This record gives sequence, structure tokens and C-alpha cells, in this order.
Amino acid sequence: MLTGHHLIAGQWVAGQDTFISSPASGEGFAFAVGTPANVDAAARAAEAAFPIYSALPREVRAQFLEEIAAQIDARGDAITAHGSAETGLPEARLVGERGRTTGQLRLFAGHIRKDGYLDLRRDAALPDRTPLPRPDIHMIQQPIGPVGVFGASNFPLAFSVMGGDSASALAAGCPVVVKGHSAHPATSEIVAQAVHAAIEKLGLPKGVFSLVQGGRRDVGEALVQHPLISAVGFTGSLAGGRALFNLCAARPDPIPFFGELGSVNPMFILPQALAARSAAIAAGWAGSLTMGAGQFCTNPGIGVVSDGPQTDGFISALTAALDPVLPQTMLTDGIADAYRAGAARMAHAGAKPVLERPEDGRRASPYLYQVTGAEWLASPDLAEEVFGPLALLIRAKDAAEMLQIAQALQGQLTCTLHLDAGDMALAQSLMPVLSRKAGRVLANGFPTGVEVCDAMVHGGPYPASTNFGATSVGTLSIRRWLRPVSYQNMPPELLPEALRSL
Ligand code: NAP
Repeated sequence: MLTGHHLIAGQWVAGQDTFISSPASGEGFAFAVGTPANVDAAARAAEAAFPIYSALPREVRAQFLEEIAAQIDARGDAITAHGSAETGLPEARLVGERGRTTGQLRLFAGHIRKDGYLDLRRDAALPDRTPLPRPDIHMIQQPIGPVGVFGASNFPLAFSVMGGDSASALAAGCPVVVKGHSAHPATSEIVAQAVHAAIEKLGLPKGVFSLVQGGRRDVGEALVQHPLISAVGFTGSLAGGRALFNLCAARPDPIPFFGELGSVNPMFILPQALAARSAAIAAGWAGSLTMGAGQFCTNPGIGVVSDGPQTDGFISALTAALDPVLPQTMLTDGIADAYRAGAARMAHAGAKPVLERPEDGRRASPYLYQVTGAEWLASPDLAEEVFGPLALLIRAKDAAEMLQIAQALQGQLTCTLHLDAGDMALAQSLMPVLSRKAGRVLANGFPTGVEVCDAMVHGGPYPASTNFGATSVGTLSIRRWLRPVSYQNMPPELLPEALRSL
């Protein structure tokens, strides 16, 4: 049952103004428009909750995360129905994404039950050291305070209201204020109902979680500028993320903005692999490119080959794999418009069309373009992300130009090598460059499908992310909401509990 209201510190709050949602199918529903006053109420409640919530035993926070997961599962059918109608994504995708979302919550519950993430350290006192004695120093990672989270349009569950940013922040001990994405407000509200039920069941402070539904630009601006917000998690566009990053940096007290922005996820298809597996690589690329209408941050938008006798055959195989893909519904009208504009930008920047099938409205079909290495190196526009199923094949004239292309790349979430044993020398020359450019380097695979685990990095140098030291997926993402604090010569009674036995 939808209210169309915000959830602010345990209260369902109506708005003076409403907006009507624009689902891909079915009727729209009226939702409260968020305001800076809503953000202020949520941030104040989050700050009031922080000392209590952050001091809870880790076991209680773990139970809270597990209870949220259970409450989300209990609303599974409604979430799938609303999520699919709002986003146009198939029901199976919503079911799978819910599993990932609840899996993330349970993963973080297990993660904080162990104390490894606290990075406990001690340098014991050396009273007899000369010329100066050493004091007794303990260190622990402490939660930073209330966190602002922007729901992402392309993952209505796993990167939205209770996605990885919120789950990791709550695990760390930080209350969360979410700015909902206006592309899926009903899905957001049902997930908020699940969190609300978990808060009630465990008797936690109400300000630990709030959802302010999407509204005008001033809501996001108010969230990142609010003096009680300590850090921000964001997944979305380069332009939006950069504007919000700048606002965070311009505050009197600048705060970290963990933005996951644009990436073209280049794949380097090395000569021996191309000769041996051209059709399989083409089919795999087409599948990865068009999955979910290409609306993944890890979508492989660029392929680089060393031009040779196999290149034309590879392009034919890729075209044959992309051609039968039926038009898909994109997440919003705006994203579909941006996709068409991105394709036009490619053509304007000199990319030669191989496959172009423009669609109307919210629909998208795959596009394929090609350029020479020299053309790509000369035109920075060709390196920009086009969000959707658009592929650009770069024909490097030789191995040296392939390396030059790797060196010219902006920061990426992923870089991929397709290689066989005979490609090892070229791969070894590319590896230091690719490791410097990307958060994750893959061999003989496709970058979509990000594993949620301990060793995952989903981040990278700008513009892939605004903090190249951070990841927004996997257990390491909790580090974004923690800061190290040292305690010097502190009586044990005043040390955080986890440090007392060290
Ligand atoms: P977006 O435009 O960046 O918006 C994301 C969130 O940030 C929304 O809540 C939006 O609020 C807010 N926002 C954006 N610019 C703002 C500003 N200047 N001031 C205050 N708040 C601001 O992303 P989107 O709506 O999801 O999709 C648009 C484009 O983003 C896509 O075409 C695609 O290029 C890109 N995208 C990239 C990824 C990725 O993983 N890299 C994921 C999703 C989308 P409002 O909705 O109220 O404007």
C-alpha cells in the first residue's frame, strides 16, 4: 500500500506539492516533492540518532541489517511489480537485483560481526626508550556521522534506497538520509517501509533512516550542503555528480563525496585471441553490451583491436550478434533522449556508423561505430560515456598505437584484456597502464556483473569515481564511512570496547 509520502525519522510526511511518477507501464501515482526543509528534519534526526546508533553493539547492527533484508523479502512481490513497472526492467531482473540487495545486507551483517574492518592497532608504550619514551597508542576506525545517499536510477534496489551505499553506512554505524530517485518512487517507498518495520522491530532510534522523495534540484543540493551530513554516496551522471562534488568541496567544512560517475570500460582484444575466438568474443560483447538496455556503469562501450586481416570479420560477427537484439525500454525518457544525443555526438565526432537503429520514446536499440586509432586519439569526445547499448570499435594500427590508446584513457571502473598465450608480451606491456587507469582489470571476460565480495573494487580514477581510493561495491566499501582515531595513553575504561583487550 503506497502513501506517496516521505519517511522522515519514523513519520510518513506528506508534501505541500506532489509529482506524478512516470512508470514505463501502468498508471502514475502522486508522490510528495522533497524540499530542503524535509532534508533538514531528516539530517537533524540522523544526528540525534548517531551517538546511540553508533555505540550499539555490532551484533545489534548486524541483526538490524538482517531484519531489513527479511522485511524486503517479505515485500518481494510488491517490489518486483512496482520496480518493473517503473523502470521497464524485466521482472526477472528485479528478482535477481533484490537477491543481490538482501545478499549485500547479510554480507555486511557477517562482516561487522568480525572486527577485522575496525583495523585495530596498538603501539605499546616504550617508557625506557631514549631519547624520548614512546606513549601507548591505540587505533580504531570510527563511524563518521550521518551519511547522505542518492538513489541511482539504473539499480532501483541494489544502488538505491537500501543499496550498497546505505547498507555499508548502516553497517559502519552511520544513520542514513536517502534522496530518492524520481524514476522509481514507489519502489523506494516500499523499501523504506521495510526499513521502517525493521527499526520498529528492533526498537532503534527513528532518525537512523529517512527517505526524502525526489523533487527539485534544491533537495540534492540541500543534502550535500547540510552541516550535519558527514559524507555522501552517489551513483549517476558525470555532470550531476561533479556539480554535487563541487558543492561538497565548497562547504565551509568540506566533506567527502563518494561519486561513481562515468566509465566506458574499454576492452583490449589482442591479436591471438581475436584470431582464435573472434565469433565468441563478438557474441559475448554483444550480450554484455545490450543486457539491461546497456544501462550498467560497467557496460563495455569501447573495444580496441590491432587492425589486421581478422578485423572486418570481427565487425561482421559483432553486427550479426547485435542486429537481432530487439528494442528495449530505457529507465526514463531523459535517459533515452541522452542515449540518442550520445549517438549523435559520436557520429559528429567522426565515428563511422556500422549499425544504427534509432528508436522513438523510451526505447533503445544497439548502435555500433568504428574509428581508427588515430581518429580516436585526435577526438576527446569519442572517449566519453554514452549510457546505453552503444559500442565503439577502435582499429589501432599496431601494438604501439594500442598502448598509446591505453595511455590516453581517462579513469575507468574496468579495463579488460582478451588474450591467448601468444598475446602475453603485449598484455604485459599493457598491464601497468591498465592497472593505473582502472579499479578492476579483467582477463577473458566481460565487465558487467559485479561480484559483491571482499576483494571487489568498483571505483577507479576520475571520472570513474571521485575518490580513487574507494569502492562502492563489496565489503571494502564500508571504509568510506569510517575514519581512523588514535588514543594516546588512554585509561582502558575510556577506550572503545574493541580496543580494550589489545
Ligand atoms: P543524474 O542526472 O546524475 O541524477 C542522479 C541524482 O542526482 C538524482 O537524484 C538527481 O536529482 C541528482 N542530481 C543530479 N544533478 C544534480 C544537481 N546539479 N544538483 C542536485 N542534484 C542533482 O543521473 P540519472 O538521473 O540517473 O541519469 C541521467 C544520466 O546519468 C544517464 O543518462 C547516464 O548518463 C548517467 N548515469 C550513469 C550511471 C553510472 O553508473 N555511471 C548510472 C546512472 C545514470 P533529480 O532527479 O532531482 O534531478
